[in-house]
Amino acid sequence: MNMEARIRGIGMTSHRTRLRLVDRLRRGGISDESVLQAMVDVPRHCFVDEAMATRAYEDCSLPIGEGQTISQPYVVALMTELVVNSSMHGQPVERVLEIGTGSGYQAAVLSKLVDHVYTLERIRSLSHRAGSLFRQLELRNIKSRYVDGVDGWAEEGPFDAVIVTAAMESVPPALLAQVRHGGVLVGPVGPQRGSQQLAVMRCRDDKPPQIQNVEDVKFVPFLSGRC
Ligand code: SAH
Repeated sequence: MNMEARIRGIGMTSHRTRLRLVDRLRRGGISDESVLQAMVDVPRHCFVDEAMATRAYEDCSLPIGEGQTISQPYVVALMTELVVNSSMHGQPVERVLEIGTGSGYQAAVLSKLVDHVYTLERIRSLSHRAGSLFRQLELRNIKSRYVDGVDGWAEEGPFDAVIVTAAMESVPPALLAQVRHGGVLVGPVGPQRGSQQLAVMRCRDDKPPQIQNVEDVKFVPFLSGRC
């Protein structure tokens, strides 16, 4: 199948199947229409192995190799909603840093809604695969790097929001430091075995962040070093 046909999808990967997933997300409480539209527009089946493509629009996480997973669509939609609606005092959300590129799906969804997405991944093969997918899908506002995300991306910061898609036992200080005053860090915090709390941390200069726990989630661990 050529790339254009693959992106378009057929049967279990078609536009219609995507619309069914979006109905389900809406019933699950995702209400931001721009986020739901982004979930229709991004072909999730392109971000999983071809053998798994027919399951891409089930609301579940799937393996992407290297022991990692692409998050459940509901969790992607929820985190996206938390990021894009995090604006305070009319300051728009334009620049977002993601730690944990994985398949690239979360970054692709965000790229439909904000001006610039920066994304970091510590596993070489995943980072490279996602980078070439961004090019094939012509998602030109995503910049990705193969690096341990613990230090963030200082040269590109500060960011309106940082989204972490791996379970943190504690939040790396550099990531909080790269969120602009009034911006948020969104990500799972808690023990790496078992479940975590999806937290929204509102960052304020010279004060500890205000933390709101949104719901229980289960993510793969945030690890250090590249591999
Ligand atoms: N956002 C991804 C989810 C991937 S799972 C998606 O949409 O598919 C989490 C990813 O975080 C894994 O690929 C893992 O390798 C990566 N990760 C874990 N610790 C990291 C770190 N310190 N720096 C960068 N990436 C990290």
